[in-house]
Order: sequence, then structure tokens, then C-alpha cells
Amino acid sequence: MTFRATILTLYPEMFPGHLGHSLAGKAMERGQWSLETVQIRDFAEDKHRSVDDTPAGGGAGMVLKPDVLACAIDSVADDTRPRLLMSPRGRPLTQERVRELGLGDGVVVVCGRFEGVDQRVIEARGLEEVSIGDYILSGGEPAALTLLDAVVRILPGVMGNAASGTHESFETGLLEHPHYTRPQEFEGRAIPPVLTSGNHAAIEKWRQAQALALTKERRPDLLVPKAQPVTK
Ligand code: SAH
Repeated sequence: MTFRATILTLYPEMFPGHLGHSLAGKAMERGQWSLETVQIRDFAEDKHRSVDDTPAGGGAGMVLKPDVLACAIDSVADDTRPRLLMSPRGRPLTQERVRELGLGDGVVVVCGRFEGVDQRVIEARGLEEVSIGDYILSGGEPAALTLLDAVVRILPGVMGNAASGTHESFETGLLEHPHYTRPQEFEGRAIPPVLTSGNHAAIEKWRQAQALALTKERRPDLLVPKAQPVTK
């Protein structure tokens, strides 16, 4: 089954961007996933082909018009793929949601611009708002590329070494242990001796302890039992 991504955007030329290279690019060439873009502006009907208008109630910036965006969404064949809207107000993306999305047929992703999107089209088309972090980007395109990067790399057969992936940060609930490779000594710093001992049980124990210590220090929030997810 091919994972299909359909991106609704005012900047289709930003895609596939970095996803056309490296592992994701090769996987796309092999047909393991596909990406198509829909230019939202193609659905604007007035003579200036305007896609945005001033905010009701006043204030700075412009808002993406609901009628134009709805037509663009409706042009995507009705299927079972989740419809996402990249949005700083959305639920923060997690590795768990990435894994769920990777099990499905694909995604339809709307990229916002300007001040955002008219609330009524979010409701009327059942868009799931997804945030990639607590900061503001100038548009949804880099957020969509980030989401797709995370999903595509876990699709079956995309990563060269299937084992790398399962030990990764967040997959285990912890941050990952530190990594080392040759040379044996670098600027006076040696590789921790346990890693070159050949004792696999000791290595595994050391890695676990490192992962736990690192998580306690940097991300104690990951060790706290999760609050109930917000349900819409
Ligand atoms: N006025 C909005 C921000 C608009 S930023 C607010 O304060 O909430 C313009 C567009 O960039 C958004 O519509 C969204 O599609 C995208 N965007 C910005 N930051 C994002 C983030 N952290 N995660 C996902 N998308 C984001």
C-alpha cells in the first residue's frame, strides 16, 4: 500500500523540498509513498483570484477565506485519509500520532498562511489542527514537511536498517543514550570503556541508565504519567 500525501498550499513549489532527497526521496522513487499538491488559489473565483480578506472584528493581517479553501478541500477525492490543518493552536505532534498516521493510507494537509484560516471551514470540513511546537512559523508548509518527514521515515522499508527506529528518542518513552564511533580517542576524550568491552548485557544496562539520566535532566516531563488527552 502506498502512503499518499495531498498538500493544500499557496506555495506548491515548496514541495517535496527536502523530502525529494535522501531516504524519503528514494522511497518516493520506489513508489513507497507519493505526494501531490493542490494550489488553493486555483479555487478563487473573483477576477483578482484573492484567497484572503481582512479579519472580521478588525486587527492586523489577513485571513484565508473559507469558501475558497472549502472548494480546494472538496476537490480532493473523498476518502478516509485524515484531514489535518497545520496550526500553532493544534494538538502538539507526538511520535505516537506520527506512528498512527504511518499506519493509515495517507494524509490531506492544509497549510495556513497570513493570520490563519477562517474558523468556519475548520469546523465544516472537520480539520484536525496539528502543531509542531510552541513557536510561530510564517506558514504551514515547513510544518507539513516536518510532519511528513517524521511519518515517511517510519513507513515499512523506508529506513535502511529496520532496527534503528525502535530505540529512538520518544519511541521508548525516554531520550536516547549518547552515541560514539571511531576514533577511539578524540581531542583527549575516550569512548566510554563499556562500549568497547564486547559485553552486550553491560552495554544495554549502561545505555538504559544514560537514557534515564538524560531524560531526568533534560525532559523530566516525559517521566510524569501523561495527563488525559484532550478530546474534541
Ligand atoms: N495568528 C496565528 C498564527 C498564524 S502563522 C496564531 O497566533 O495562532 C501562519 C500559518 O503558519 C498558520 O496558519 C499555520 O498553518 C502555520 N504555523 C505557524 N506556526 C505553526 C506551528 N507551530 N505548527 C504548525 N503550523 C504552524
